[in-house]
Amino acid sequence: NNADHLKKADQQYYFHPTTPLKLQQQSGPGLIIKEGQGINVTDVQEDVYIDGVSSLWNVNIGYGRQEMAEAAKQQILNLSYSSSFFNNSNDKVIQLSEKLAELTPGDLNVSFFTSGGSESNETAFKMVRHYWKLKGNPERTKIIALDLSYHGVTMGATSATGVREFDSMITSSAPGFLHAKPYLTDCEKGDTSHLDYETSIRGIVEKEGPETIAAVILEPVQGVGGINIPPEGYLKAVRELCDEHGIFMITDEVICGFGRTGKMFGVDNWEIVPDVMTVAKGITSGYMQLGAVLLKTDLRDELAEMSEDVFFHGFTYSGHPTACAVALKNLEIIEKEDLVGNAKRMGAELHKGLKYLEEKHKVTAKARTIGLLGAIELFADRENENGFDPSLHAAQQVVEECLNRNLLLRPLAFGGINAVALAPPLIVNKKDIETIIERLSEAIKAFENKAF
Ligand code: PLP
Repeated sequence: NNADHLKKADQQYYFHPTTPLKLQQQSGPGLIIKEGQGINVTDVQEDVYIDGVSSLWNVNIGYGRQEMAEAAKQQILNLSYSSSFFNNSNDKVIQLSEKLAELTPGDLNVSFFTSGGSESNETAFKMVRHYWKLKGNPERTKIIALDLSYHGVTMGATSATGVREFDSMITSSAPGFLHAKPYLTDCEKGDTSHLDYETSIRGIVEKEGPETIAAVILEPVQGVGGINIPPEGYLKAVRELCDEHGIFMITDEVICGFGRTGKMFGVDNWEIVPDVMTVAKGITSGYMQLGAVLLKTDLRDELAEMSEDVFFHGFTYSGHPTACAVALKNLEIIEKEDLVGNAKRMGAELHKGLKYLEEKHKVTAKARTIGLLGAIELFADRENENGFDPSLHAAQQVVEECLNRNLLLRPLAFGGINAVALAPPLIVNKKDIETIIERLSEAIKAFENKAF
């Protein structure tokens, strides 16, 4: 039958991204999805699953929206593609740039477009290095990122990434990327007596010399690294540290952007404005491939002022009109349906649900949420914070038990933690959250029965 054929053809012909290749070759894909509607997806066996992580934290408005299909169709008929190289432009990329300027905080009013998060970060790194070169400081190239950060998989982005497993893919990183320990707020404020001072961003800036540091990049809330929410005052301290030394602050809003955290952007939770912001995923809710680098007008003006030459950086699909039309419709839906507000309200329900799981199950602790981005951790002995033996793949097992109960979640098992991540589409209601929590609870119970 068709499902069997697809499985065999997948094993034979498809090289999956971020997948254990041997497992896929031997057992075939875990799930072959063919439809999506609202918060649900359907596989080729006709089983329906709640997508509790919005696929890759990106399907913010849910699946199968008629208006999105219409926007894409109309744009393809009007102007399917056009380049904005060599000073050309198109109506949709201009409208989207204008819309983003309205939505972003402060004076982040100029957009450069890419096809995704990695390309956006790569572009941001090149832009800040280009700036310092034009400024007469070509040695000012170093970029400080955080341990457990995730910034993508192109060479610069993977070198910035602080989840160490991604390093194992490459024999050498791009030069000039350094990693600091996250969330050492006191150190960033200047407490040099702190034991970890040398590993803080400030400690590294001091050791390397601020005149060598081009930028700091961080996610407002770390996603892949474990849904790590910064303590109060951290982002502000980093903002002030960057200001002190004229270092660019880049925030990676690829997951946080467009409502995920209950605010339009992650940084809006702490009211700081970076110099450069990178976005992707939620900008189109995954309906088309699109990313962007949003920068302060002053920065663009200075770049223009310093050189009349071509800025030799651009992708064929920079400013793709169909992707931009789809993004515009997506942003219209987010605003019209107040999905940012819904993320905040339903985020509170998700938080309650995860706290309930902590009470109910002895293996769960450290529930955390910000808007509709959350996680819960698994411990063999939570009183002493002892994790499970890594060979048990605890988070993976719980997620597999969720799959058996028609719920898709994501294990996060980096940096010694076993966490289960939740990031449902921003259209969820209270009943949906209850169903997600019920199924997750049953899955944890099944895991507990096996583990003890
Ligand atoms: N930055 C963050 C915070 C991400 O979570 C991701 C992807 O998960 C990326 C960058 C890379 O984006 P892309 O996969 O679109 O290249």
